[in-house]
Amino acid sequence: MYLLDFTFNSYALLSLFALVVNTTLIYLIASQGLQVSANRWFIFVLITLVVWSATESLSRFSGNPVAADFWGSIGSLGWIFVAPLFFGFTLSYIGKEGLISTVSKQIMLFGPAVLFLFLDWTTGLISIHDPALFEKVYYGWSSPTAPFFWAVLLWLDSLLVASVIVLVWYYRKQDYKNVRRQTLIFIVAVLIPILGGSITNGLLPILKIEVFPAAVILTSVMSLLITYAMLKYRLFSINPATVVSNIVQTINEILIVTNPAHRIEFVNDAVESVLGYKKEKLVGQPFQNLVKGDWEEFKNRVMDQVYSGESVSGVELSLVSADGQNVPVSFSANPLKDSKGSIYGAVGVATDISKIKQLFADITAERNKLTTTMESIVDGVLALDFDTKVIMINSAALKMLGLKGEQVLEKKLDDVISMSEGNERLRAADLLPKAVLKEDTILVQKNDLSISTLLGREVFVNLTSSAIKEGNEVGLGAIITLNDVSKEKELEEMKIDFVSMAAHELRTPLTAIRGYLSVLQEETQKSMTKEQKSFLDKAFISSSQLASLVENLLSVSKIEKGAMKLEQEETDWKEVLEENFNNFIPLAKEKNIKFTLNNLDDLPKVFVDKFRVGEVISNLIANAINYTKTGGSVTVSAEANEKEVTTHVKDTGQGIPERAIPKLFTKFFRVSGVLEQGSKGTGLGLYISKAIVDMHKGRIWVESKIGIGSTFSFTVPLASIENRSALQSVTNDSTTIGVGGSKKSRRYFKT
Ligand code: ADP
Repeated sequence: MYLLDFTFNSYALLSLFALVVNTTLIYLIASQGLQVSANRWFIFVLITLVVWSATESLSRFSGNPVAADFWGSIGSLGWIFVAPLFFGFTLSYIGKEGLISTVSKQIMLFGPAVLFLFLDWTTGLISIHDPALFEKVYYGWSSPTAPFFWAVLLWLDSLLVASVIVLVWYYRKQDYKNVRRQTLIFIVAVLIPILGGSITNGLLPILKIEVFPAAVILTSVMSLLITYAMLKYRLFSINPATVVSNIVQTINEILIVTNPAHRIEFVNDAVESVLGYKKEKLVGQPFQNLVKGDWEEFKNRVMDQVYSGESVSGVELSLVSADGQNVPVSFSANPLKDSKGSIYGAVGVATDISKIKQLFADITAERNKLTTTMESIVDGVLALDFDTKVIMINSAALKMLGLKGEQVLEKKLDDVISMSEGNERLRAADLLPKAVLKEDTILVQKNDLSISTLLGREVFVNLTSSAIKEGNEVGLGAIITLNDVSKEKELEEMKIDFVSMAAHELRTPLTAIRGYLSVLQEETQKSMTKEQKSFLDKAFISSSQLASLVENLLSVSKIEKGAMKLEQEETDWKEVLEENFNNFIPLAKEKNIKFTLNNLDDLPKVFVDKFRVGEVISNLIANAINYTKTGGSVTVSAEANEKEVTTHVKDTGQGIPERAIPKLFTKFFRVSGVLEQGSKGTGLGLYISKAIVDMHKGRIWVESKIGIGSTFSFTVPLASIENRSALQSVTNDSTTIGVGGSKKSRRYFKT
């Protein structure tokens, strides 16, 4: 046939060689996997090269110009498309394929190629199709350059140059050595057809200089280089099969494939690292050899299920390692089915759980240690989560509360017990931290807290709630320790009862003694000697002191029992102060002490129990005179603000050592040492004074310097209407204070 009129031409063999090269490259790239889009783009480039080289060789082999032109025209399908496809490949390679993802952009990229192809096939503008103008030359056929061939050449080279620019930009951006090398090879490769191919097939023919057209060969050199780089640096070799096999070999889990005869067909590398077997030695062996214990039982339970088509997961069993050790594993298996669904084997995954087991054992041991420790603590200990649920409680706490574990655990604390401090209810939520903690903290510390359980039992405890800063991470709100003080409280109460009873019993005979003594003093004025009189006076003074001690003791026991009541009323403070002040004028005179009451004219009315507050004033003045040497001075003064009146009793006495001040207002406390000598106090006056001031919701404190003197101050509330009504509501439920209350005040008093 006309078009199949071929004659041998050795130059055509070069094109044929290019054809073979490009076909081979297609195979190589495709076998790397087509998942990566750059690979697919490059295969398209190679296909155009195959078309181009095949048609070029046919054209060169052609025996007549018509055939040469025919094959050459088909070749346009190849060479026109090389550049846009290569540009697509470049974008995909640098990960910017998105730039040509829309249809319009693809039309921009490929539109000119289609147009040029159309023009080439329908006109003589791109290449000459007139056989008369064809000329037989040594490499085949040559024809003059068509009028618009330059436009195609310009467009082609622009795309290739654009590819180079993109590649250079990418090269400069990369840090990874292999990517840089690969990109560099791409750059060099694409320069070859740009420089070589365009010159031999384009520029020189346009300039009518006759050379051998080497574009196909040179472009093939490009594709060869690029393929080389791709294979060498393996940047596009993500072949799923290779990947799977890599994964299988690198995972830490043992993978075993068995056949229906339960012989091992495949194992992965993990058998070597986990069990110490050589892979090859296991293949062909019965699976039974690996399984520790009753094989039949395992076969029935696991393998038979797999062969019935089901999967099993998380079966715990032990495998035997090469050195005879048992390795605990978690085993899961699935049937292997062919396309028709029949089962031809089983694939099992065994995960080494020896470490987990060890960890578990460690945790259990730790837990046991913790439990033992908790149980051996005599104090009650319980832990709350952030929802106030009890997550742990030791038996001391259970015993204290008279409850059983199941009555408390996982229950909200408020649903099981009720805690109260005096009259105030304490909620479990109050024991929890309010914000994320920066450090471990004691949140709440309460003494003499009353806890009653739902079963009606009441205990008194000292409670400490502490929280750790990691609490939030482990869901631990607070750890609460309870120290049972019911016994102490009971004892204390017994003590108070005893003191109160004794004081009561002493009171009547003492009154009688004092009465008779005073009668005796008067009756025997004249008949007695001086010495006898002084005996009588001493007896009277001592009995008076005893009487005041008894009164004090009665006051203390009243305070502690909560039996002391206030009768508050609107009172002129000036009057109260003056009255009490006047009582001490003789004593001050006797001791030659300068005794002053400052101007009190503008004082507002106060709301107090006159009698009780009088005790406070008297006590402070008595102390001031008592602990001030002859020649010193005692000054009483008062001032008011919008809420309260503050009264000061200032002396120039011995002063109180700093370390004694915190304990000054406690029961029976007396400053020991030199200061104590010569005075006959009971150590109860300030305690009682503080209790009375507290009941008035006031404060009492002292400022003192050894050798210079002391100033005792206390406040009482104003009688202004709002203040009184507010106070009345407070006093109504708290004018009585018990042991708890007084202790509380002891803890918080101000110095
Ligand atoms: P007492 O009956 O011993 O005076 P108080 O409770 O009134 O009991 O006082 C307790 C102790 O405080 C006293 O023993 C004394 O050591 C010290 N004290 C009280 N007032 C003064 C004062 N104005 N100057 C120095 N020491 C004082």
